[in-house]
Amino acid sequence: MNEDNSLQHKMFLELKDAELFRKAESFGIEYLGSIFDRNVYPSKSDLHDLSIFEEDFPENSGDPLETLNLLNRYGAPGTTAQIGGRYFGFVHGGVIPVGLAAKNLATFWDQNATVYQSSPISSKLETVVQKWLVQLLALPNETVAGFVSGTSTANFCALAAARYRILKNLNWDVTKKGLFNAPKVRIVAGRQVHSSMLQAISLAGFGIDTIEFVEVDDQGRILVDKIPKLDHTTILSLQAGNVNTGAFDNFASICKKAKEQGAWVHIDGAFGLWAGATQHFNHLTTGYEYASSWAVDAHKTLNSPYDSGIIFCTDEEALISTLHINAAYLPNDNERNGMYYVPEMSRRSRVIELWAILRYLGRTGIEELIHNLHKRAVQFAELLNSEKGFLVLNQVVYNQVLVQCDTDSLTDKVLKEIQEMRECWVGGSSWKGRKVIRISICSWATTEEDVKRSVDSFRKALKNIKN
Ligand SMILES: *Cc1c(COP(=O)(O)O)cnc(C)c1O
Repeated sequence: MNEDNSLQHKMFLELKDAELFRKAESFGIEYLGSIFDRNVYPSKSDLHDLSIFEEDFPENSGDPLETLNLLNRYGAPGTTAQIGGRYFGFVHGGVIPVGLAAKNLATFWDQNATVYQSSPISSKLETVVQKWLVQLLALPNETVAGFVSGTSTANFCALAAARYRILKNLNWDVTKKGLFNAPKVRIVAGRQVHSSMLQAISLAGFGIDTIEFVEVDDQGRILVDKIPKLDHTTILSLQAGNVNTGAFDNFASICKKAKEQGAWVHIDGAFGLWAGATQHFNHLTTGYEYASSWAVDAHKTLNSPYDSGIIFCTDEEALISTLHINAAYLPNDNERNGMYYVPEMSRRSRVIELWAILRYLGRTGIEELIHNLHKRAVQFAELLNSEKGFLVLNQVVYNQVLVQCDTDSLTDKVLKEIQEMRECWVGGSSWKGRKVIRISICSWATTEEDVKRSVDSFRKALKNIKN
């Protein structure tokens, strides 16, 4: 018999033999085992070693194990220890073990969550998770959910739906006629609106120069009295969780009234919306149920693996009509076709790990998770405030802490020193024209000890700079 040297044959063997998968798994487990002890950020030599990937494109098919080994040997050290307890950069998020495991299992399934027929399990879980989340967050019953890659996309979907509905009500079908010569749609947003919202406003064709900005208070919350008169041509953009301070807009005073005036209220709740799922923090979200759309990330404070965001919208017709031109509205069968609620067609089935996490945590688990992030943030702020040379600038209502040193240049230097020390990782930001260090507690894995160690690192960094 002739030996089969074809690529196809080789791949059949690789799939059946499963050595590759076992190897990947054992590398992954080894990685998890070291995550709490390693440098939070790659060392200089690890970063230097990344140049190993600058190869010429290979001429021929190679050895898959060798590829995997290369990735593990030089790739793993080039990661940030984001799922450990001392990564406080941006507003990222750790990972709930069962979510990671469910994602790994689903990786083998490689599902495309377009329509029911392409993946019945994805369709089923999207239906279940939509229902769970609408109940958990106490959103209006008619709310639908689209499972997107993150809040940037969710914000965009919300604006597109709002644009569709507002113009449709003015007898203008934007999907057919476009925005040129369309009736004007007003956008009202706080001065501290997140950059992803600006991006969405730009992508949706409104232009950021047209935004009617509303002044904010010292925590970045919209000043209720400064909101202009709203009407049925207005989109009002609010925030559950300012990216710097973690502050929530005053939904109770704003949303119901805005709705009565006919405006479309959208809430960017990338990491803050989960407050609405808790007893302890839902005073921060009171009134948010009068909005028409909400954006949230599962991959931030809920600790789902990347990438996982959700667009919630009360206007199913607007959302579907704006995202899918060819979608016969509400397709004939009763099963969910997930692609109608998102801008993509092909899409991985990110709902699988989200479902696993929600099922695992339950209501009390989510309460405990969010509450712990808050407790660690409060601890961080208290310890830093009792250190000479650091000043906490924000009210720690949720998971964010903003810190400053005596001068901007000192803040910059200390931040850089902390990052170089690699004991923890925090990022910089600016607040009211001053440089700040921003600490975002986003991982379930952060312990009291992690916070103490990190504060030690702040102290040492300041001392090193002053010497
Ligand atoms: C992170 C964040 C976003 C963007 O979300 P992505 O998931 O990164 O696209 C938007 N708004 C706020 C307040 C955020 O914190």
